Amino acid sequence: MEIAIIAHDGKKAEMVQFLNQHKVKFQEKNICIISTGTTGGKVEKAGIEVTKLLSGPLGGDAQIAARVAEGICKMVIFFRDPLEKHPHEPDVNMLMRLCDVHDVPLATNPATAELLVKAL
Ligand code: PGA
Repeated sequence: MEIAIIAHDGKKAEMVQFLNQHKVKFQEKNICIISTGTTGGKVEKAGIEVTKLLSGPLGGDAQIAARVAEGICKMVIFFRDPLEKHPHEPDVNMLMRLCDVHDVPLATNPATAELLVKAL
């Protein structure tokens, strides 16, 4: 099962912490993690295996959106920072829209992500 993770800059540390807490479950369930480039770099440094796509502002969110549309990516965990502006907001909106179009579970904050991972 493929799960995408994305974290805005102000939330990347929280994402690493979240994955550290759940990495055993992810391994047990054979979950393949994909991510936007910079988020993936931080996660890799923490010793967690991840397939990195482009950085978000360069199209990484759009790549993940395409995988959602194609039925490859089955869940998206996106720690958004609602207090910052992002140049790639249209891509972020597209990703969230495609999750709704294809009924793919999408967590946009850690509390929801916890509930989704519990359901795995
Ligand atoms: P990043 O992208 O992981 O390359 O920083 C995240 C985002 O979409 O803002």
